Amino acid sequence: MSTWLEHLAEPAADNRQDPAQQHDGGQPATPSTASAHGGPVVAREHGVDVIACRRCGFRHVTPLPDPATIDQLYTEDFYGSLHANYIASQRANLAWWRLEFGAKYDLFEELLPAGRCSLLDVGSGPGWFLQYGSERGWRTVGVEPGRPAAQHTRQVLGQDVINDFFTPAAVARREPVDVVHLHNVLEHVPDPAALLDTARGALAPGGLVSVTVPNDFNALQEALVRLRGHARWWVSPREHLNYFDRPDLEALLRRHGFEPCAHLASFPLEMFALMGEDYLAEPALGKVIHSRRMAMEQALHAAGEGALLGKVYRALGELGLGRTLTVLARRGNGR
Ligand SMILES: [Zn+2]
Repeated sequence: MSTWLEHLAEPAADNRQDPAQQHDGGQPATPSTASAHGGPVVAREHGVDVIACRRCGFRHVTPLPDPATIDQLYTEDFYGSLHANYIASQRANLAWWRLEFGAKYDLFEELLPAGRCSLLDVGSGPGWFLQYGSERGWRTVGVEPGRPAAQHTRQVLGQDVINDFFTPAAVARREPVDVVHLHNVLEHVPDPAALLDTARGALAPGGLVSVTVPNDFNALQEALVRLRGHARWWVSPREHLNYFDRPDLEALLRRHGFEPCAHLASFPLEMFALMGEDYLAEPALGKVIHSRRMAMEQALHAAGEGALLGKVYRALGELGLGRTLTVLARRGNGR
């Protein structure tokens, strides 16, 4: 398999000559570069630069990969060579995953009028989020380019799925939905703004987009970089083209016709490293800390305090903390 990472490792002569690409202390782009991707380099990994792009308003790799390599990555490689055990490992922790799903559907039901319960899950993976919603009375459909995952969704779970990329054409014949769910999608795509426009087009007026992304360059991560000298471990340019924190994600949503209205974090795993279990220095600790986090969440649910846990994670999300961040935003009536 040829990867675009190899291509990205080549110095991009054109970009290097672009004054907007250089460390320039955040000077405004000149008119000639205002429409080009450019900004200070904030990380470099595997020979790939991540810039704080002035045009896009968030951090992303440069140069961006070409469309053909992205097609190959998500139709064939993602559930093949990259994550062969993904479906099995998610199945093994399904009881815990269903608590995560429930926290989101709780929010959707709080924010939407009764009876508005149709959902489109973009990058729906093996389909368990769809299945959970169906059991809860939602009308759900997935969009998933990966063939093994789409087959699992349809044949094993009996859920509705479109085996394709999320484009206006792919959903053109579908009724508008009340929620478009984008879980760990925006960081993978070369044009997240276009994806949000597609989501907007798939939503009924007043509907919600639910965007979950890794919460990157967050304060706890940067604290660990300062304290321990770790490289910025969350920068993973082959799979993650884009890096969002709460302000950048919300600004992007607003520019594309959405008004942020609720937040939900996942456990700030960086806390474990700050408490002394530094899974960044000792990767074997990764499974240990994840198990502890799952145990804590399952214990609180077992004790009848699932709602309290939800409040804690909503508050962390408001602070911009958490290993992942979910922002729910309502589709306005304009545009
Ligand atoms: Zn850009």
